[in-house]
Amino acid sequence: MANEVRVTFLGGLGEIGRNCLAIEQDGRIVVVDAGLMFPEPTMYGVDIILPDFRWLIERRDRVDAIVLTHGHEDHTGALRYLVKEVNVPIYGSALTLGFARHRLSEAKVASGLTFVEVVDGERRPIGPFEVEFIPVTHSVPSAHALAFHTRAGIVVHSGDFKLDQSPIDGRRTDLSRLAALGDAGVALLLADSTNAEAPGFTPSESSVGVALRRLFLERPDRRIVVACFASHIHRIQQIADVAHETGRRLAFMGRSMEANVKLARKLHLLRVDPADVIDVENIPRFPPGEVCVVCTGSQGEPMAVLSKLSRGDARNFKVGADDTIILSSHPIPGNEWSVGRVIDDLHREASEVIDSSREPVHASGHARQGELRTFHQLLRPANFVPVHGEYRHLVHHAELAVSMGLSSKHVLICEDGDQIDITTKGIRRAGKVPAGFHYIDGAAGDLDERPLEERRMLAEYGVVLISVGVERVTRSIVHEVAVSARGWFDGASDTQVLDSLRLAVREALGESLSQGLIESDELTKSVQRAAGRLLGQRFRRQPVIMASVLVF
Ligand SMILES: [Zn+2]
Ligand SMILES: [Zn+2]
Repeated sequence: MANEVRVTFLGGLGEIGRNCLAIEQDGRIVVVDAGLMFPEPTMYGVDIILPDFRWLIERRDRVDAIVLTHGHEDHTGALRYLVKEVNVPIYGSALTLGFARHRLSEAKVASGLTFVEVVDGERRPIGPFEVEFIPVTHSVPSAHALAFHTRAGIVVHSGDFKLDQSPIDGRRTDLSRLAALGDAGVALLLADSTNAEAPGFTPSESSVGVALRRLFLERPDRRIVVACFASHIHRIQQIADVAHETGRRLAFMGRSMEANVKLARKLHLLRVDPADVIDVENIPRFPPGEVCVVCTGSQGEPMAVLSKLSRGDARNFKVGADDTIILSSHPIPGNEWSVGRVIDDLHREASEVIDSSREPVHASGHARQGELRTFHQLLRPANFVPVHGEYRHLVHHAELAVSMGLSSKHVLICEDGDQIDITTKGIRRAGKVPAGFHYIDGAAGDLDERPLEERRMLAEYGVVLISVGVERVTRSIVHEVAVSARGWFDGASDTQVLDSLRLAVREALGESLSQGLIESDELTKSVQRAAGRLLGQRFRRQPVIMASVLVF
């Protein structure tokens, strides 16, 4: 045990989102990332999904630090929940911490926290480890891979990365440092699997600028609105550069877009000529061909700018036949439907819409197989666990590692909650901790599976309401059994169903009363059962049945 280092995966293995893991030596723990995940459409009323932090909270005295690989929400979005319980120093690049701090301030939990900025290539003691911050290219600037120097050897966590040879800021993935770590001997590699199914190489971010330039030049008289992630500073840089070259003013729309642009300019990570920038209310003063709007909402989020524009709801500015809308993005799985709605509504406003299915206006931030091979080749790890991906991505990444010569004994496919130990001999499974989805409903707060399941049943099958009164003395039913339904059969016209429900309820009550049952909750249960049986037999459906039997 003395030489063992333990890794506990708390999220991101089996889904894209809520990335979080803990690495532990001598009983001291360092957390890597604390991200959120966006819900599927059938998770009704759920706003976000968090990792289950209980395991960490129970060990809060042993947690030394939280280290952030980069500033994306799937790596930082759950911090505001975690820091309320585990207040330890948070490490990351200036931009990563800037984004995180902004969100923590919005949530009013930033005060009393310690943020420690790190620079590229830095190596410093954090908790029981020496931790190195290695520059990697990704769809947000200042992203890092991490190398933990542990007693069981070097553990490399890739963070989210691609191997972009012509990044916008000239800051490439530090391949020579990775090669040096490989030479020193990497005990365990944990690496991004998002694009492990895709052969070849992810196009460089700068290829997007080429496409944008052409589209801008082809439309000298049209106003151009580009929607992209507000954290994608390099995309925003390219849009700003092309706008400048083609004589357009820039207007930034969306709260997070304005905040991130401000922060990135302050950190000199985004260069925009102040003379180019105009306020949104001044857009109509310029001919369409002289304006470029950069906005949020590329994922179809209903409250973001692009959705508002598509509905004609945005303040100070409406889109129409003079506008070309470019979605410089690719829908995250689960968002396709909302993005489709927004694109449809933009067509209703008579705007031209261009997305990544028509023009190369987006490039992924994640490495494809060709880059993953290079990464593995440089690091030559003794053991490998794929991270950051849905299950099939993890499987493909594991296969890739084996195809490169790693024995399958040294490759483990892990899922959320799995723990592994690294020893000088290899890695082995060490246990399992709770790591289910933690649902957050913005209005109701925490949500567990039960209310969510009820919401699903309500949405799928509707609700049937039954109420009836029973007289205790005579043990008889008073008045008619009242039955109504919502979200299913039409109560008014479907009298046959209602009649048979009433009959079933009367029969069930009659039987229960004859058996001597008279308490309200006992009678309610028998009514519920009878109604459920009837509806199940007749329709093969399970609506939510709300029954009340009043005994008086
Ligand atoms: Zn990610
Ligand atoms: Zn990312």
